[in-house]
Amino acid sequence: MTTLGVHAMVWVGGWSPDEAAYAMRKTAEAGYGLIEIPVLEPETLDAGHTRRLLEDHGLAASCSLGLTADTDISSTDPAAVQRGEDRLGAALDFAAAVGAGFLTGVIFSALQKYPAPASAENRQSSVSAIRRLAEAAGPTGVSIGLEAVNRYETNIMNTADETMGFIEEVGMDNVYAHLDTYHMNIEETSMRDAVLRCGDRLGYVHVGESHRGYLGTGSVDFAGLFSALSEAGYQGPVVFESFSSAVVSPLLSNSLAVWRNLWEDSMDLAVSAREFVEKGLGAAQG
Ligand code: MN
Repeated sequence: MTTLGVHAMVWVGGWSPDEAAYAMRKTAEAGYGLIEIPVLEPETLDAGHTRRLLEDHGLAASCSLGLTADTDISSTDPAAVQRGEDRLGAALDFAAAVGAGFLTGVIFSALQKYPAPASAENRQSSVSAIRRLAEAAGPTGVSIGLEAVNRYETNIMNTADETMGFIEEVGMDNVYAHLDTYHMNIEETSMRDAVLRCGDRLGYVHVGESHRGYLGTGSVDFAGLFSALSEAGYQGPVVFESFSSAVVSPLLSNSLAVWRNLWEDSMDLAVSAREFVEKGLGAAQG
C-alpha cells in the first residue's frame, strides 16, 4: 500500500543530530509513515544516528538531493562529473546505511536554471553516470528515482515523457520516474497523461501545491492526480513537499527560490496535508 511521507524541510533546514531527532519525532506525531531526508552533503551526515531514530519512531525513509554546478554529472567537464558521481556515491552509501527505499531528486543534473538546452553530450554524460549509480545501487536494494522538475530547475527532464525516455536509455530495472505535482502543474498536459505515461515505472510521487504551501489552496489538480494514481494501481510513496521562508536550508532554499512565507506552523501544515491526501486517495479508490 501507499506510504504517506513528508519532506524533512517541513520541520528543519538541516540534518544535524538535533534536527534529525526533532524532524523524526514531528513526522511520527503528524501521522506519517515515511520521512524524506535531504542529503545535499551526505559526506557530513551520521547514518548510524539516523538509522536508530528511524527504528525508534517506526519510520521508513527516502533520501533526496539536487546536484550543483560543481557536481553536475551532465557537464562536459570530466572533473565536475567525477565530483557528482562521488557525491551520488556518498548519498547512496547513506541511503543504504539508513535503510532508505529510494535515492531520488534532481540527481541527473544541477538543480538550477540552465542558459541553453542540454546538448547530446550533456545528456549522454548524465545517462552514463546514472547507469553507473544504478549498477552500484543494485546490491543495496535502494531504488533510484529521477525527479522531473520544471524548466527553470533542469534542462534534462521536465516531463514524464522525457523522464521515461531517459530511463529507457539508462536501461536499468531499479531506476524509476519520480513525479511532483508542483512541477507537473507547470509542464504536463494533465495529471492523468503524465501518470499513465510512466505506468509501472512510476516509483515516487511528491505532492506539492502550485505555490508550495498548504495543499488544496492553489491551482494543482489533485483530484486528477489521485484518480490517475488509482487508475494506474500506484503503490509507491506519496510524499508531501512544502517550503516556506519559515524553515531555511542554507543548501536548498535559494535553489528552490523560496522567497516568501507560506506558513509558520509546521505541524498544522503537515497534519492538514496528510488528511488532504488520505481523503483524496480514499475518494479516488472509492
Ligand atoms: Mn519535489
